[in-house]
Amino acid sequence: MSTNKGIVGFDFHCHVDLHADPVAVIEQCERDRIAVVAVTTTPKAWAQNHSWMKASPYVHAAVGLHPELVGKRHAEIVMLEQLIGDCRLVGEVGLDGSPQHSASYEMQKKAFSRVLEASQRNGGRVLTIHSRRAARDVIAMIEERSDPAKVLCILHWFSGSLSEARRAADAGCFFSVNSAMLKHDRGRALVQSIPKDRILTETDAPFAKIGSRNSEPRDVVHTITELAELYGESATQTMTRLTNNSQCVLLFAGIDLNKIASN
Ligand code: MN
Repeated sequence: MSTNKGIVGFDFHCHVDLHADPVAVIEQCERDRIAVVAVTTTPKAWAQNHSWMKASPYVHAAVGLHPELVGKRHAEIVMLEQLIGDCRLVGEVGLDGSPQHSASYEMQKKAFSRVLEASQRNGGRVLTIHSRRAARDVIAMIEERSDPAKVLCILHWFSGSLSEARRAADAGCFFSVNSAMLKHDRGRALVQSIPKDRILTETDAPFAKIGSRNSEPRDVVHTITELAELYGESATQTMTRLTNNSQCVLLFAGIDLNKIASN
């Protein structure tokens, strides 16, 4: 096991490009030593994100098509499939079953199928997946269309049931947890039910709120403390496990965190 003394936290789901000053966010993550998966919401945003982040050992761009945008941007699925050939981090993708997106739901399923299939064809892909009010379909599609040896799925801000969480864990999924999920009993019970070796941290910054301000990647440090309290263990124990989990997931996508620690 490596301790990765250089890294103080991991944000597996952050919208760096939707902050007012993305370059400043990247520089701040480097100063704070926070490793970040920077999700994007349309494949057209990937080239700009990649150019901002390609030199950063900490911040890594993912290519995505947000399910809430599939209704208007479904033509971009072709571009997304192509980019999945070049980029091993994929997100934000998935399904949104909220009433306001019901008109696009069948199209969302087609798009997510193609994302899973492209990831499966290429192999070594890590997906950060939105599943609001659609956990059952998301998990069924992961089971049907991908193999955990080739596609590592992270369920981001998961809000399904305990039995859905168990089924997803059995299918090989990881779960990225933010502070908002730990604010209520239901979220804490859900997190506690998930195998500890499948837990990661995230912020969904800048959208999730911390009090009245927008979240930022360094907020994952506080989430480590909250998880340690939930588990009744020291923050060091929690951080050691989160580091192992995070390392495992990033290595699946060819990202070696030991290279950061030795820089
Ligand atoms: Mn998001």
